[in-house]
Amino acid sequence: MISSHSRAAFRWFPQRVPVQFATRFPAYQRAGKNYLQLPVVNSAASCLKCRMPFSNLGLSLKVLEGVRAAGYTDPTPIQLRAIPIIMSGRDLIGSAQTGTGKTAAFALPIMSRLGQRGSLRALVLEPTRELAAQVETAIHDYGRFTNLRTTVLYGGTGYGRQDQALRQGTDILVATPGRLLDQMQRGMVRLNQIEILVLDEADRMLDMGFLPDVRRIVERCPRTRQTMLFSATIPPEIEQLGQWALRNPETVQIGQRRSPAETVTHALYPVASDQKQALLEELLKRTDFDQVLIFCRTKHGADRVARKLHQQGHAVVVLHSNRTQREREQALNGFRNGRYEVMVATDIAARGIDVEQISHVINFDVPHHPEDYVHRIGRTGRAQSVGDAFTIMTGEDVQEIAAIERFIGQKIPRVKLEGFAYEYTRLLDSAPQPAFGARRPHGRRSFGYGRKRR
Ligand code: AMP
Repeated sequence: MISSHSRAAFRWFPQRVPVQFATRFPAYQRAGKNYLQLPVVNSAASCLKCRMPFSNLGLSLKVLEGVRAAGYTDPTPIQLRAIPIIMSGRDLIGSAQTGTGKTAAFALPIMSRLGQRGSLRALVLEPTRELAAQVETAIHDYGRFTNLRTTVLYGGTGYGRQDQALRQGTDILVATPGRLLDQMQRGMVRLNQIEILVLDEADRMLDMGFLPDVRRIVERCPRTRQTMLFSATIPPEIEQLGQWALRNPETVQIGQRRSPAETVTHALYPVASDQKQALLEELLKRTDFDQVLIFCRTKHGADRVARKLHQQGHAVVVLHSNRTQREREQALNGFRNGRYEVMVATDIAARGIDVEQISHVINFDVPHHPEDYVHRIGRTGRAQSVGDAFTIMTGEDVQEIAAIERFIGQKIPRVKLEGFAYEYTRLLDSAPQPAFGARRPHGRRSFGYGRKRR
């Protein structure tokens, strides 16, 4: 029986084994999501701190009820450290890897501080529509026992519903910068009573050229406010933004600034350029995945890959910015509810994807920016679940891979697929073959060729 290749990576990199094995107890996997028992935190001291439950963090009772209803028993490390700071009213810079529970880390104390329904007092800026929609859903969930109102604003869709929601009044606004500025110009939103401002995924705002818009928005908020800035990485521009927009902030850094989710195992698959698609198909055949997210650099590339996978009989859906908002939502919902087993996406579209079952991320194209590698693989291994990140690499990607390895501070193992009819490329000389047949490190059951179980 053929099973996951990532096991091979374990063999060659035994220093990763203890942490990974510790996180791969089936009982702690997706369904359980129990942080308390996950020995992922770095030291015994921090592990003990993790045993402090949500009720000791100063959150309001209504919000605590929401947390319980969401099924969270114990705070994640960023929640544990950020919530008391936010509750005390201080500014905060949160540098945490993706999938760490960052949304609840700011949403829970914001709702607790706002307390009762009133005027628009909290603003959360997000770089993409997907992320904005996801954060709004999370806030709704956590706040279901409060009477606070949350509205989401993003572009690519009509004004009707958004205008209606704004007219009805809102306490918390989650928005992408462009549409928020539009709505401000149309006189639908005024920020003069904002008490709490969150700049989420700030490094992404930078990448997408949104910082000038963000600055214009910040300038329209009152000076006396609480400001939080979250960013997976803190490049100099974000550091400057922090110095300008925040006052005497506390910094919370979870894990290494640049480290990708620690629950993810990485592997590189070198191959000749014209065999990329064939290798991808072979990888899918041999991998026991729950759901897999495949990244391409271009929209056309994503369409092409998806078309071919569809021809191979995969239930596949595409997500990129040429699609309408409605199509994107349908694609995400279909992926979330398991109708599709494979999603092919470009970087921007994939920013807000939070699907628990994603067991594998495959980079069909190596990302241009090392930060994107971290964001991409942050789509798997979310909330301390486990996942594998495979990257297909050709001779043209050598420099980008070196940059990624420098950025994440680790060498990614090269892996060769046993029995695959490789065309020769020099890259293959240094890639060992995985040893199939050993026990899967995930503790997931292997179903032959690993097609989606239904
Ligand atoms: P985020 O980093 O905010 O995108 O969160 C990643 C995932 O972690 C989401 O699916 C959340 O529902 C989940 N999550 C957040 N906080 C907790 C917690 N304390 N316990 C279990 N799951 C959590």
